[in-house]
Formats: sequence, C-alpha cells, structure tokens
Amino acid sequence: MARRLGPGARLVIATHNQGKLREIAALVAPFGVAAVTAGSLGLPEPEEDAPDFLGNARLKALAAARGAGLPSLADDSGFCVAALGGAPGVVSARWAGPDKDFAAAMARVARLAEGAADRRAWFVSALCLAWPDGATDSFVARAEGHFVWPPRGANGFGYDPMFVPRGAAETYGEMDAAAKQRGSHRARAFAQFAAACLG
Ligand code: IMP
Repeated sequence: MARRLGPGARLVIATHNQGKLREIAALVAPFGVAAVTAGSLGLPEPEEDAPDFLGNARLKALAAARGAGLPSLADDSGFCVAALGGAPGVVSARWAGPDKDFAAAMARVARLAEGAADRRAWFVSALCLAWPDGATDSFVARAEGHFVWPPRGANGFGYDPMFVPRGAAETYGEMDAAAKQRGSHRARAFAQFAAACLG
C-alpha cells in the first residue's frame, strides 16, 4: 500500500527541466499539494546512470528526498522511435547535448530514420515518489503515435514538434498545454500516481 500525500503536504518536484516542471506543477495543484522545486532548494542533479526509465526516476526521486528531507517526485522520460529500436529512449536528453539543442536532436532522429516505412514512435514517462526513509512507489505509462518531419509547432518542449499522438492530427508542439495533458505519457503516469498516492 503506497503512502499518501494529503492537502497541505509539501512535495519536491525533482527536476531541473522547466518543461516537465510546468506540466507536473499543473498536475499536482488541484490536489492542494504544495510543489517545491528542486532548483529552489539548491538540490544537485544526480548522474542518471540507470539502464531504464524506472531506474533513473527512482534515483532522482531518492536523491531529492534524502537531500530535502521531504517526499519527492521525479519523472524520467524519453522519446522512442520504432525504426531506431526504441532510440533515443533513456538517452533522449543526452542527444540534445550540453546546449540542450533539441532542434539538433530531432534532426538526428529524422536523419537516422529517413526512408523508414515504420513511423511509429512513443513517449514514456516513469514517475517515482520517494520518501526520506527510502520508501518508493513507481508508475510508468506511454503515449503512442508516430513521428513527422519537418517538425511542427513551437509549444511544449523537447521532441514535441515531431510527435503526433494516435488519433490526433497535430503534433504536441502544435497543441495547447491542455490538449497535450489529456493523453500524454506524463499525464497517464500521473493519473496512476494520483490514484495511489494523492488525497
Ligand atoms: P530526462 O527524463 O531528464 O532524462 O529527459 C528526458 C528527455 O526526453 C527530455 O529532455 C526531453 O527531451 C524528452 N521528453 C520527455 N518528455 C517529453 C515530452 O513530453 N515532450 C517532449 N520531449 C520529452
């Protein structure tokens, strides 16, 4: 049974990614949980050296929970392309390099997948809630769809402009934030987390 966070609880959002921070803060707000950012507490970013999304979410959440002495929520996520065997996957952020150049990362995906008949792509989000004593609960979800090239739209972040979720015509980069939240990988993982741990 997962431990729960009630109204008035403080929750550290263990990310330094402004795009994720915006989305997660909007998701926790209706539950009366006060989001504290990892940046505002001066928490360092741990090395993400686990081989999978769940492992990285867990190590980020645990590092923040121990550093802050507060329950902490981390997301590890990425963009996966079927024709590339699931790459960039867990190294999605790394493909953008130290300058976080996602135009270059998207161009790399498009170049490597050029000519592939299989356009399937998906995002994965693994969320982990960790407590200062080391207890954790994890949740994972996907958003299925396909990739497009050239990229379209300036909303969102990361690989959003080259991903069209199943059943939609627009990319995540063209949708407004509410439309993306309706079926996104992060929103789906968050719904599992909320059911198990919030309120
Ligand atoms: P990490 O979870 O910090 O390793 O970074 C995951 C990377 O995957 C992000 O920097 C983004 O490039 C990409 N990513 C994760 N979620 C999304 C999303 O919702 N839209 C676009 N890109 C995403």
